Amino acid sequence: MPKASQPDNVAEPVAAKAEKKTAAAKVPVVNIPNSVGIRQLADFMGVDSIQVIKQLMRSGIMANINQVIDYETAAAIAGSFGYQAKLKPLKEQRLATASEESKKLKKRYIKESIDLQPRPPVVTVMGHVNHGKTKLLDAIRQTNVVDSEAGGITQHIGAYQVTIDSHKITFLDTPGHEAFTAMRAHGANITDVTILVVAADDGVMPQTIEAINHAKAAEVPIVVAINKIDRENANPDLVKQQLTEAGLVIEEYGGNTVCVEISAKEKIGIPELLESLLLVAEMEELKASPNQPAAGVVIEAEIDKTRGPLATVLVQTGTLKLGDTIVVGNTWGRVRAMFNDTGKRIKKAEPSTPVVILGLNEVPHAGDTLTSVVDEQHAQAMLVKQREEAKRSASLTADSVNLDNLYDQISAGKVKELNVVLKTDVQGSIEPIRHSLEQLATDEVQVRIIHSGTGNITESDVMLAAASNGLIIGFNVSAGEGARQVSSNQRVDIRYYDVIYTLTDDVAKALKGMLEPKYIEVIDGKAEVRAVFPAGKGAKAAGVYVTDGKITRNATVRVYRGKEVLVESTVSSLKRFKDDAKEVAAGYECGVGIKDFNDFAVGDMLEFYKMEKSS
Ligand code: GDP
Ligand code: MG
Repeated sequence: MPKASQPDNVAEPVAAKAEKKTAAAKVPVVNIPNSVGIRQLADFMGVDSIQVIKQLMRSGIMANINQVIDYETAAAIAGSFGYQAKLKPLKEQRLATASEESKKLKKRYIKESIDLQPRPPVVTVMGHVNHGKTKLLDAIRQTNVVDSEAGGITQHIGAYQVTIDSHKITFLDTPGHEAFTAMRAHGANITDVTILVVAADDGVMPQTIEAINHAKAAEVPIVVAINKIDRENANPDLVKQQLTEAGLVIEEYGGNTVCVEISAKEKIGIPELLESLLLVAEMEELKASPNQPAAGVVIEAEIDKTRGPLATVLVQTGTLKLGDTIVVGNTWGRVRAMFNDTGKRIKKAEPSTPVVILGLNEVPHAGDTLTSVVDEQHAQAMLVKQREEAKRSASLTADSVNLDNLYDQISAGKVKELNVVLKTDVQGSIEPIRHSLEQLATDEVQVRIIHSGTGNITESDVMLAAASNGLIIGFNVSAGEGARQVSSNQRVDIRYYDVIYTLTDDVAKALKGMLEPKYIEVIDGKAEVRAVFPAGKGAKAAGVYVTDGKITRNATVRVYRGKEVLVESTVSSLKRFKDDAKEVAAGYECGVGIKDFNDFAVGDMLEFYKMEKSS
C-alpha cells in the first residue's frame, strides 16, 4: 500500500493520466507559481478550498487554508483535479528566495545595523519549590506599578519590565528551570541573567542544585537571592556555605557570584537585588541594534475568542513595529495591534521588550521564533522553505515506527529520531511532557515533538504521524472513530496515558531497550608475576611471563592473588627489555606497570581483558 508520506505517489497517476490526455483532448492548464496558498490554488481551479485541503490530507499533508505549498505538491494536487499544472515563469512570480530576502533586508538596514546599543537584561527566576520565586516576581513587579490604559489588555502577560535608576530590566514571569530549559530545548536562549532564590530557613535543596546546573549548562550568570531573611530561623550563612559546596562560590567567600539577602514578603533588599542584576548585566555588555527588522521569540500564546491569536513575544533584536509582516513559527501575519506589559497600546517595541501582538493567522507555540519580513510574499516564501525542510527530514525514514519496534528500528539504523504527535486535554500539560520526552534524547536518538495541541486525536494528527514515521501520544484524550480507522490503515501507533511518569517511562524503556548495548568481557591474555622491581618515583613494576594469549598496552587488567582480586586498573607501561612494547605474546617475558598499583608479589596472576559490544 502506498505510504501517505509520499504525496506525489498518490496524485501522480492522475496527473500522468491528465498529461496523456493533453495530446488528444483538451486538458485545462493551470499556472502555478513556485509556491502557492491553498486558497489561491483552489481559486485557480475553481474548486472549494476544503476540497484542496482534503486532497492534501489524503496525500499526508496537513494544511490549513492560509498555508502555502510548493509547486511540486500543488501540481500533484492540480493533477488530481484533472488539471495540468504549469510553472508560472519566474519573472512573473516576483518571488524572492530566502537568501535574496535577507540580502534585501540587510541592504535596507545596513547603515544602522552597526549601531549596537545597550539593551535591558532578560531575567528569569529559579529555585526550589516554595522558596519564594512567585512572591519575589510579585514584589519586583510592584516596585513600579503603572495604571493600565482603558481598552488595553488587562490580563497579566508572561513578562514585564521594571525601571531602576532609568535602567530597564525585563523579567520573564514563568519561574523555574524546567520552563527555562524547555525554552532552551526549543532553541530559544532568552535569559541573560538568572536569579537563584534560596530560602534562608530551608537552605540548598535538590531543585536548587538542578537550577544551578541548568543555568550553568546554558552559561547564564547567576545572582543569588537568599530569601525569607525575615524568618526567625533564617540562616543565610549556612546557605552560603551550602552554595559553596554546590559549586557556586559567592563573592564574600572569594568567588564571583553576587549574593543578596532579601525578604520577598517584607520587601527587604529588593532594590539591592535589582542593582546587582544591572551590575551583572553591565559586565555582560548586552547589546542589540534597535535599527533592524525585528527578531524575537514567543513566550506564550493563546487564542482569544474575539481577537484571534494572541502571542506574547520578547523582541530580541531590532524594533517590532505596528503593521510589520512577521513569520512566527509555522504561521505568519501582520502586527495589527501591540500592547506592552501594562496593557498599553504601543506602536513599536525595541530589544528586550515583551509585547502582546495581535494579527497572526494561527496560534504559535512557546519558543517559536519571530522574524520580520518585507511583505506577505516573503513570509510565504519563508514558510515554504521551512515546510520543505520539515518534509525532507520527515521523509528520511520509511517504515512506521511504534514503541514496540523502536528498538529494532534504531538498531537497524532506520530511525534516528522518534517523531511524536502529542495531544493533551489542557495546554498546560504540553510543555512539561514535551520537555520530559525531549530529555530522553540520546546521542543515537532524538525525540522530536512534531506537533502538539489540545483536544482529541484527529484524523489529521494520524496522517501527520504517518507522514513523519512518528507515533501519537494522547494524554487524557481519546481518538475519534475516523482517527482510529486511519491509524489502523496507516499502522500508526497511538498510545494513551493519564500519568506523565508512565508516559515518559514507557518511551524511555522503548529507547533504552536498544540504547543499552550489552557489553561482554573478552579476555586477551594472562601473565604470571615472576619478579618485582622499582620503576621510579616509588612506583613498582612487575616482571611477568605471559602464559596465555597476549597482553596489550591499552588493556584493562585485573591482579589476582589466589582467588582474590587486588585491583582492577589499566596498564600504565609495557616494556620488553628497555623498550616500550605494544603487545607481548604468550611465551615471552616483559615488564608491566599498572596504574595506581604497586603492591605486586611474586606469584600474582594478571588477567588482561577488554569490554566489547555484543551484537
Ligand atoms: P515558589 O514555589 O518558589 O514560587 O514560592 P512562593 O513564592 O509561592 O512562596 C512560598 C511560600 O513562602 C508562600 O507562602 C510565601 O508567602 C512564602 N514566602 C515567600 N517569600 C517569603 C519571605 O520573604 N518571607 C516569608 N516569611 N515568607 C515568604
Ligand atoms: Mg511559584
